[in-house]
Amino acid sequence: MLKRGAKIGIIGGGQLGRMLALAAYNLGFKTEIFEPQNNCPASLVSNTHICADYDDINSLTEFAQNCDIVTFEFENIPIKAARIIEENANLYPNSKSLELTQDRLVEKNFIKTCNLECAPFFEINSLEDLQSAITKAGTPCILKTRRMGYDGKGQFVIKTPDDAQKAWDEIGQNPAIIEGFVKFDFETSIILTRAIDGQIVFYPNSQNIHENGILRTCIVPAPLNEKQIAKAQEIGAKIANELNYVGTLAVELFVGDEIVVNEIAPRVHNSGHWTIEGTATSQFINHIRAICGLPLGNTEICAPKIEMQNLLGDEILSIPELLKSPNTYPHDYGKNEIKAGRKMGHVTRLIK
Ligand code: AMP
Repeated sequence: MLKRGAKIGIIGGGQLGRMLALAAYNLGFKTEIFEPQNNCPASLVSNTHICADYDDINSLTEFAQNCDIVTFEFENIPIKAARIIEENANLYPNSKSLELTQDRLVEKNFIKTCNLECAPFFEINSLEDLQSAITKAGTPCILKTRRMGYDGKGQFVIKTPDDAQKAWDEIGQNPAIIEGFVKFDFETSIILTRAIDGQIVFYPNSQNIHENGILRTCIVPAPLNEKQIAKAQEIGAKIANELNYVGTLAVELFVGDEIVVNEIAPRVHNSGHWTIEGTATSQFINHIRAICGLPLGNTEICAPKIEMQNLLGDEILSIPELLKSPNTYPHDYGKNEIKAGRKMGHVTRLIK
């Protein structure tokens, strides 16, 4: 169990790191951020910031040695960096969780070994692989880079076999997978927190609505029946237990006739931001509790319905207006530069 005043290292300084740092601060812990960019959202609310690149071995070692435990806010940390941290400090979640989720092919194979449903997939290393996979998967299908894809980036929807060359060029001819198209009614995610002793708490599912590949709105609770909720929780628990996971985990799911796994996020997740006002113990607080060896808290929803909307680009300027409405809680991530489509904040509405 981590002692009061201990220091938690957070790799990555974006909004997720910021909300983790605020949660840690509420429990009396100090935080140190490791992030290459100055004045990042998390460093603005943390005790210290190591501003260095992820291949800077000396800085990574110093960071790990400064901290009592280390966690992360994004899964694309080079695995070498994670290993250096693990040699010098306790890293939660473990580097295995990172390694599996950094590469879509490895992740999909892992999902299969867990006996869970996912879209049919094929490994792509050449245009010839792609052409043959399109024949097997049928159209439409989706070409996705194995690494560094997020918010719909590094993806190409193939509508006809003639799209192959264009799609291959579009993703920079990088190692990829083809996924068969899943027919689903809506998307949801299961968010859970697993403690060091293996105890798991689940959050209510949200319905996730995307626009242009970016999460736009979450509606909680999602329209799932009891059997579907139990299935979603079973999927989340299976993955968390297999990984010996510690902390908050999100699994994105497609809901149709069956529940199909889309993606695993080994971290707190955008579709769980509503938990800050919508539950007594947010996904961020439970993550900090879990990695510090503290008891987990209540995850029940505290309003009949909750809506979370991301504030993109200059929508962030609407916060004074949003504050005029009752039960409306906007968050500003403190990013200096407003860019069209950039996640600048979010707003949660409790609907009574
Ligand atoms: P991803 O980055 O893999 O989460 O994909 C972004 C979005 O693309 C998802 O949230 C879905 O809306 C859509 N998508 C991804 N993969 C598939 C698939 N195999 N079948 C249908 N839609 C998909």
